[in-house]
Amino acid sequence: MAIEIPEARKVGMVSLGCPKALVDSERILTRLRADGYAMSADYAGADVVLVNTCGFLDSAKEESLAAIGEAIAENGRVIVTGCMGNEAELIRAKFPAVLAVTGAHQYEAVVEAVHEAAPPSQGPFVDLIPQPSDADIKLTPRHYSYLKISEGCNHACAFCIIPQLRGKLASRRIDAVLREAEKLVAAGTKELLVISQDTSAYGVDVRHEERTWKGRAVRTHMTDLARELGQLRTPEGHAPWVRLHYVYPYPHVDAVIPLMAEGLITPYLDIPFQHAAPNVLKAMKRPANEAKVLERLKSWREICPDITIRSSFVVGFPGETEEDFQYLLDWLDEAQLDRVGGFRFEPVAGAAANDLPNPVPEAVKEERYQRLMEKTAAISAAKLAAKVGRTLPVIIDEVGEPDEDGDIGATGRSQADAPEIDGAVYLRNVPAGLKAGDIVQVEIEDADAHDLFGVIA
Ligand code: SF4
Repeated sequence: MAIEIPEARKVGMVSLGCPKALVDSERILTRLRADGYAMSADYAGADVVLVNTCGFLDSAKEESLAAIGEAIAENGRVIVTGCMGNEAELIRAKFPAVLAVTGAHQYEAVVEAVHEAAPPSQGPFVDLIPQPSDADIKLTPRHYSYLKISEGCNHACAFCIIPQLRGKLASRRIDAVLREAEKLVAAGTKELLVISQDTSAYGVDVRHEERTWKGRAVRTHMTDLARELGQLRTPEGHAPWVRLHYVYPYPHVDAVIPLMAEGLITPYLDIPFQHAAPNVLKAMKRPANEAKVLERLKSWREICPDITIRSSFVVGFPGETEEDFQYLLDWLDEAQLDRVGGFRFEPVAGAAANDLPNPVPEAVKEERYQRLMEKTAAISAAKLAAKVGRTLPVIIDEVGEPDEDGDIGATGRSQADAPEIDGAVYLRNVPAGLKAGDIVQVEIEDADAHDLFGVIA
């Protein structure tokens, strides 16, 4: 007698916000798949749609509300989760049809809400469905993966509401983080992007407790984490690229620079400086706000000349004077950062900065933003021009179709480029058979303000 196996219920997912939110979406989907759910690529095929929202800036909130509205219109059965989940009342007032609202990192609550909205199919062979232990759901391409090491933050930067939304720093166990990384690398990840709100504070909340990993004692600490990640190997025997994001320049960060010089981890640090003028940093209440940063950058470059420093800056913070802004531009001339993102200050509901005096007029913000971007583009152009003629390893993100002459182009990134936020390396004439995730040596032929151009060496 044939036993009918019921079809799996399908979940659709709309994921908004930063890489950290993307990791949350991946975790939720992994868990749901373990419970027997299938994924739906469109609204029509989904039994229920999850919208993972971002509530950081007012513009992100608007985007989140628009996404909820679209999911309701297209499907009707919608569960809201993520940072905006903390504003359940606002969401319910606007969209009374929403089935459930859960906050950021409430994995259990969101999974339970899905179970309620679309109870999982129960069949006699449900337990025989392969469980996703080695095939976790990933929303990023298979060749790179975000590795989230902690949640929350112990700081109180005046423009930020993350600590209110996500709570105090809570570090994951280092052995669990390393196991996850090992699984990702075994499954095809060639590049690990370490993320958190404050990577250099990893383990402070648990006093850097020791765990055992591969028979060795490892501390819950950024340096130990970096060293162990650098020893992982892909099935082909290669070391994955390991990129550290959201690192504050605390003195102990000096210890990871030699690991970069040894080639154990990628020579790249993403440090969100946000400003340079002491007055503004003080008003922003930024951590690791010390005068010696320029000296530290210099000494890091002496140890590891190829290090790439990426950062982001906010212009037009309340009270920022023309003098402060000029200080920032002069500081950038000295610091010679490789990659810079710029933001115009935007008040975030609930942030302390909103009550500060002397707001900067929008037109002044805009003018400063343009000057910042001009300055950083000129620095970047000169730095990239110096790479012309060199041969650099490049990870391939995308391979194109042959053009009318049969030439195939590809897009990749050097070690100086994190996905989505930095530049690209455009390749001409790549061999057929090249695929995303391949790491190739590329001779750099040309450069512009943000990208490189080259050919496989
Ligand atoms: S360090 Fe500052 S900006 Fe970053 S999450 Fe913490 S409070 Fe927000």
